Amino acid sequence: AASHTNAIACSGVTVEFDGFVALNDVALDVPAGKTVALIGPNGAGKTTLLNAISGRVPMKSGRVELWGDDITRLPVAGRTRRGLGRSFQIINLFQEMTTFENLRVAAQPPRFNLQPFWRPVNRWSELGDRAREVAAVVGLSDVLDMPVATLSHGRQRAVELGLALMADPRVLLLDEPLAGVGHNEIASTMELIERVRENRTVLLVEHNMEVVMKLSDEIVVMMGGEVLMRGTPAEVRNDERVKRAYLGD
Ligand code: ADP
Repeated sequence: AASHTNAIACSGVTVEFDGFVALNDVALDVPAGKTVALIGPNGAGKTTLLNAISGRVPMKSGRVELWGDDITRLPVAGRTRRGLGRSFQIINLFQEMTTFENLRVAAQPPRFNLQPFWRPVNRWSELGDRAREVAAVVGLSDVLDMPVATLSHGRQRAVELGLALMADPRVLLLDEPLAGVGHNEIASTMELIERVRENRTVLLVEHNMEVVMKLSDEIVVMMGGEVLMRGTPAEVRNDERVKRAYLGD
């Protein structure tokens, strides 16, 4: 139901890789309309949690709900159809292809298995129309025909955001949306994220603490596959455990 208070609700999520426990009994709620950031040292399990929510890693146990519906057993495409979008790091994937081609490919389920398009639209020309629409939203209309490799890091992140937006998701999982972005483009990339998250719920992983503090309504600190604490940016910044375990590095 659209009025549900949590867009995402996970509980008891455990993920193991060859006996290594990457996530240990993790619970996480993402309130509707909010932006929640996952932080924590490398290997804490942040990306694995995004993958568990989007259906890209098998869970040993646990439950994932989207708007109160149990989606634990839904494959990636089924979650996408229900409005869950995930950004992809395309930096090494489609460098020779243009912005336009990258966006159009993202909407093609069978061949690349990236971001299956939830709308009953599969005609090539309609996908092209959607690609142009999304390019305008993320400010890339002027580089539609440029190979992604020739774009700045900030604009490559905008392409990634565009890929995630092709299916117009209400809930957006973003994996390091500012990775590699230089100082001169941080402000514009943050503005883009702020624009894109209007009317959406966002769960993001990001290492740039300044960005995390500014963008997030709430921050969840992870360590060793578990949630260490959760709080507002001010609460997290002032938490002694967090300072010791992470921020004080
Ligand atoms: P973070 O995003 O917080 O840096 P990850 O979720 O990427 O952490 O990884 C958590 C732990 O799980 C790490 O120790 C990582 O090496 C391990 N891991 C992640 N994905 C896999 C995988 N596909 N196979 C084996 N181990 C993995």
